[in-house]
Amino acid sequence: MTPKKCFPIIVSSPSGAGKNSICDAIVEKRSDVEYSVSYTTRAIRRTEEDGVDYFFVSEDYFKKMIREDAFLEWAQYLGHYYGTSRKIVEDTINRNMFIILAIETKGALKFMKKRPDALSIFIFPPSMKELERRLRNRKTDTPNVIETRLDNAKHEIADSVYYDRFVINDDIDRVSDEIIKLIYKKSKGKDIYG
Ligand code: 5GP
Repeated sequence: MTPKKCFPIIVSSPSGAGKNSICDAIVEKRSDVEYSVSYTTRAIRRTEEDGVDYFFVSEDYFKKMIREDAFLEWAQYLGHYYGTSRKIVEDTINRNMFIILAIETKGALKFMKKRPDALSIFIFPPSMKELERRLRNRKTDTPNVIETRLDNAKHEIADSVYYDRFVINDDIDRVSDEIIKLIYKKSKGKDIYG
């Protein structure tokens, strides 16, 4: 039997549209899909764990990693740096596993250029009104940050045209199943649009 073809899976969405929950559901359902733990300079949140949600590092350390070409992509978001480790992605693919990246669009576009084999998926909220409702309900951000996120959402949605597929997040279980089907179609060389 020929081994399956593994590749990175990029999942982007405006913040609040649910990409993290969808990625978590996919990793839970499929033992051959791993989550790419990014590096960031932003402060750790109460619910997060270093090395699990992110590797939390100083700006100096992050910049050193940029100089060493340790990132496949990196970007700034709301004043902080975020980057995808080249080593983590390459090691995972070399172990014949899929790796899923929940990242914002500017970095995602850079990643697509470096890894044209990636499957890229853009997740839309059901509507902008629903996105706003979800962001306000999270109660993690100040009204100003929510406004910035809504403004960023418009730019991110404009970038959605560069993705292989888009899906609407109406239900995490359904959407995660839909993405899993796309992953296996692509790994078997089948048309992901049919
Ligand atoms: P948060 O601070 O809310 O965890 O993440 C802010 C944004 O940065 C989200 O859109 C998240 O998906 C994105 N992000 C997380 N890790 C990376 C990464 O490695 N690279 C890029 N370009 N964006 C990332």
